[in-house]
Amino acid sequence: MEKGKGFLEAVTEIAEENRLDPGKYSIDPVKIVAEVEKILREDYTQTLMISAVLGQMVEARGKKRFPPPAFFAFIEMLSTVVDAPHDTRSETSTEIEEQATRIIELMTTLVSLLCEWSEQGIIGISDDCPEALREIARAVFRKTKLLQGGLWTCISCGNIVEAKETHALMCLECDKKISSAHSIEARFGRLGERDRNGYGFTSE
Ligand SMILES: [Zn+2]
Repeated sequence: MEKGKGFLEAVTEIAEENRLDPGKYSIDPVKIVAEVEKILREDYTQTLMISAVLGQMVEARGKKRFPPPAFFAFIEMLSTVVDAPHDTRSETSTEIEEQATRIIELMTTLVSLLCEWSEQGIIGISDDCPEALREIARAVFRKTKLLQGGLWTCISCGNIVEAKETHALMCLECDKKISSAHSIEARFGRLGERDRNGYGFTSE
């Protein structure tokens, strides 16, 4: 897929690449993950800004809210791209917005494919979930279940805390440490560096 294409257009293209009838295509989650990784690896600053946009949206209420399961999947993906290059070009807000919108579409589609849904939300991991993506699906399912029970997984330290006792998606301790820094980098820049064996990155 190339940059700047509409989502449906891109999906149709994937369907055609796989010689599926675009009218009744099945979307390949592995390709969605590859596309997300490609965007996140483009540029470190851009990835930070996208993370900040999504972070704000997951905290929003109403229609503009980014669904938490899609956000959890995004966090998992973020941990796989620690080596995005730093460039000197500064992205325009329009560019960031476009890329964030694309990530939102891709992540929302991805969780709909990886997890099994009922009207109550996620009830498990989809039978069709490819083996390579089960780790992501498991993390999404677990964190979504916790959230349904009023618990939030801190995006910084990974500790599980009361959802209402968080600030900007972090436990109060992490928030206190970071709020003095006030930078997006302090908040989102270390997500990818978190120990992958820590909570939320089970590699069984
Ligand atoms: Zn924390």
